Amino acid sequence: MNENIKGKVIIITGASSGLGEAAATHLSGLGATVVLAARRSARIENLAKAITDKGGNALAVTTDVTDKVQVQHLVDTTVDTFGRVDVLINNAGLMQQSPLDSGKLEEWDNMIDINIKGVLYGIAAVLPQMQQQKSGHIINVSSVAGHKITPAGSVYCATKHAVRAISEGLRQEVKPYNLRTTIISPGAVDTELPNHITHEASAEGIQGFYQHYAIPAEPFARAVAYAIEQPEEVDINEVLFRPTAQA
Ligand code: NDP
Repeated sequence: MNENIKGKVIIITGASSGLGEAAATHLSGLGATVVLAARRSARIENLAKAITDKGGNALAVTTDVTDKVQVQHLVDTTVDTFGRVDVLINNAGLMQQSPLDSGKLEEWDNMIDINIKGVLYGIAAVLPQMQQQKSGHIINVSSVAGHKITPAGSVYCATKHAVRAISEGLRQEVKPYNLRTTIISPGAVDTELPNHITHEASAEGIQGFYQHYAIPAEPFARAVAYAIEQPEEVDINEVLFRPTAQA
């Protein structure tokens, strides 16, 4: 079934670490051309080199997803270089847990800008191209936090609920264009995600939880591949998974 991944041009935001890096490595191993986007240029350039050294196809495009001009440039560069874009994985994200009364307004802004507006900018940039192609697949990364609310997680959970709402609206709108949409909602996966929490008690709680329960990133990469490799008439709308021990 991997024949439906081979040769596809796949943009992955947040490809400099964690889930995005794992997806890029896995999908390129299955024959996809991967376009790696993130702010840390050295990381995505090194990953692109590692993939091409192994005989794969990869291009690094430094991108801040909170800047719509840069996101459009990412899509334009992909189309200029490879002639099309088959899949966009809106994966870049930020989690900064804190109770609302700690008043971390800047962190709320950052999570909203990256997790919600970044996804919207990706959709806006890629849709005209996919509508013209009459084919394409947009995969948005939500979370278990897109299904349940936790204390100190209000804003992060709100952004991940928003990703699911946007994705479901998108799914209904793009049917005339033959486009597929998928939400991937992981539970705790061992990445750099919890390292950005500045509220001390929240950081301690979540990092302790991750140390005990988090699973490796490969199941995420396999979930993405599962959604992409289906025949074009099959649209996997959501994959929700978590560590077996996670409530
Ligand atoms: P990481 O912190 O390891 O990766 C986050 C990625 O997002 C990095 O590549 C980072 O790259 C990128 N990123 C952050 N801000 C921006 C920005 N402004 N512009 C472009 N890229 C940006 O965490 P994960 O791999 O775990 O997170 C990936 C996604 O998975 C996120 O959306 C997260 O919410 C979601 N998720 C993760 C879970 C987990 O337990 N790990 C569980 C559920 C969902 P750079 O800093 O170089 O820009």
